[in-house]
Amino acid sequence: MEFSNIITTWYRDNKRDLPWRTTKDPYKIWLSEIILQQTQVKQGLPYYEKFVTAYPNVKALAVAHEDEVLKLWQGLGYYSRARNLHHTAKFIHTELDGKFPDTFKDLLKLKGVGEYTAAAIASFAYGEAVPVVDGNVYRVLSRRFGIDTPINTTEGIKQFKQKAVKVFNANNPAEHNQAIMEFGALFCKPKSPDCMFCPFQSDCVAFQNGQVDALPVKLKKMKRRKRFFNYIIVQNDSNEILIQQRLEKDIWQKLFQFPLVESQSSLDQIELKDLSKIIDVIDEIDLQKINVKPYKHVLSHQDIYADFWMLKHNYLETSIDIESYISVSFNNLEKYAVPILIDKFMKEHFLDS
Ligand code: SF4
Repeated sequence: MEFSNIITTWYRDNKRDLPWRTTKDPYKIWLSEIILQQTQVKQGLPYYEKFVTAYPNVKALAVAHEDEVLKLWQGLGYYSRARNLHHTAKFIHTELDGKFPDTFKDLLKLKGVGEYTAAAIASFAYGEAVPVVDGNVYRVLSRRFGIDTPINTTEGIKQFKQKAVKVFNANNPAEHNQAIMEFGALFCKPKSPDCMFCPFQSDCVAFQNGQVDALPVKLKKMKRRKRFFNYIIVQNDSNEILIQQRLEKDIWQKLFQFPLVESQSSLDQIELKDLSKIIDVIDEIDLQKINVKPYKHVLSHQDIYADFWMLKHNYLETSIDIESYISVSFNNLEKYAVPILIDKFMKEHFLDS
């Protein structure tokens, strides 16, 4: 209990004022937790506010069109979160009569809700006694108790869960969980933690043994993948262009994009013409690269390098197979949810000019 008393006392004096902390509405807590997965509070906060304003309850989100939800999410990355969010809202609305699951066990059944998120919602909204274990919790526990088992191994996950249960305060679950996460986020930070003013300093194993920078231990990530995207903006005389929705199981699923040729390395005009199916009736000379340097977009396990090519072509009047594409007015492209990479390109080359 001592650990929990110390950390909740610290929390009361130091916590940030965040809108999802003043509500017990499971919908809003769930929304905030999904937005904050892989996202800093500073970046996620405006998205939380936009979503709560546009969709104040689970029904409003459930009946929204998926494209609108993706559009609102644009820029936050990891779009599967937005798709799962929408899917789950529809599921709660139609299958559960709009009633949010109210136990850890039932919350876990929701798509996109893992153990951490289920524990957060169950404890914050319903006061269920279940400890959260996220990146902040791993860091605080590994340093305070000197646990050096890698956090991304089965053994590590088990060990940290056991420790989280041991230090947990079942009489005050919501505040305990908020406190340990906030302490990790603001105080026992990955780099330069405030050890000099830390209430755990005299008992902190990592601090006493000079291991603060070495903990927690994480096994090396897998090799990063390099991908080369060649987007072709096929534009006709009526200022219409072709776009398509990404339907395959891959990054950016369901977002819209220009016709894409993916390659093993960056391409010149001739190589692109050879690889592209959509433009086999034209001459490579008609392909004009717009950007000078490729756009680089960094994701968790892959780096995307993108080139954008302009092709002026009256595609509606030719035999080009455009079945899998839709033709939209260039000026209407803004209405479609696109990867942030394309949004950035458009802003730099067209919208600001
Ligand atoms: S002394 Fe430093 S490393 Fe230890 S718990 Fe406090 S902030 Fe974290």
